[in-house]
Amino acid sequence: MKRTNKLLPIRLYGDAILREKLAESDVNDLGLLALIPDLVYTMYERDGVGLAANQVGSHFRMFVIDPHWSREDLAPNPIVMINPVIESTEGEIVGEEGCISLPGIYADVHRAARITISYTNVEGNRQTKNAEGFEAVVIQHEYDHLDGIVFTDKIGTLAKLKLKRKLKDLAAKAVDGVNIMEDLPE
Ligand SMILES: [Zn+2]
Repeated sequence: MKRTNKLLPIRLYGDAILREKLAESDVNDLGLLALIPDLVYTMYERDGVGLAANQVGSHFRMFVIDPHWSREDLAPNPIVMINPVIESTEGEIVGEEGCISLPGIYADVHRAARITISYTNVEGNRQTKNAEGFEAVVIQHEYDHLDGIVFTDKIGTLAKLKLKRKLKDLAAKAVDGVNIMEDLPE
């Protein structure tokens, strides 16, 4: 019988798990391996280009990305990164970011333009990848999640001031462990 993928509840800004620094995971953990297909499925269902495990309430140090995917024209090409380590960074790039855990919030974030990252893949092998531009941004955004950092932590003072109200409203609605995404306005 074919296993059915689960749409996992998304933890929203204000939920304590988004502030946790996740410890390195055992790559053979059955729970981790079981989570992967649901994590990937949930990213696509939420129209995301990246999703970290703590965004769905899990403590595994892992995320999935697919920076170039769009519902209309591209076949999925998810890359799962377990225990990732950013080995080096170079240059700077600024672009508008959003996050599945912060619906309706967008702001410019400064990131490294080029990175080298090592990680364990779904087969359990250690890999090294060079990324630049949008792909590098997506990886850095997801990597931050694993350290309990969200993109609004990295924006300028003025931008933060502008979003203060929205962030407060979001945090006020967040209940640890409860998916309330459906109740939020677009
Ligand atoms: Zn995010």
